[in-house]
Amino acid sequence: MDDYDKLLERARASVPEDAFKRSGERFKVPKVQLIVQGTRSIWQNFQEILTVLNRPGKEVLKYVAGQLATGGNIEGGSAIFQGKFSPEGVDDVLTRYIDAYVICPVCGRPDTNMEKETGAYYLKCSACGASTSIRPV
Ligand SMILES: [Zn+2]
Repeated sequence: MDDYDKLLERARASVPEDAFKRSGERFKVPKVQLIVQGTRSIWQNFQEILTVLNRPGKEVLKYVAGQLATGGNIEGGSAIFQGKFSPEGVDDVLTRYIDAYVICPVCGRPDTNMEKETGAYYLKCSACGASTSIRPV
C-alpha cells in the first residue's frame, strides 16, 4: 500500500505544473493603468496594450469609448477619455473587447488578425486557420 502511494505521488509529480493552464498563459495583457486628471481619465499604458493585442489604436479607442459612453482621443501613447473612470472599469471593457475581437472562438488563442472583406469583418486565426465573421466595432 505504501509503495502504491509513493508511485502515485511520483506519477503526479512528473506532470508539468502548467500543463493544464498553458493556453491562457502565453497571452498576457498588462493591467490598465489609468489616472484621473481633472475631468479626464488618462489611460497611460494604452500603446503598450495595443502592441500586445496587435490591433490599431483607433479601433480599440472607439470600442472602449463607446462602451464607456464617452468621447476619447489618443495623445502620444495614451488614450484620454472625457469623464472619470476607474482602471477596473476600463479593464472590464478591454476584456470584453479581447473576447470579441482578439481571441479565436474556435481554438481560444489570440493569434488573430482582423480583416475586412466585401464590407464584412473577419477574425482570421493564424494558429488554427479559422475565419470567423464578427460585427464591426
Ligand atoms: Zn484559432
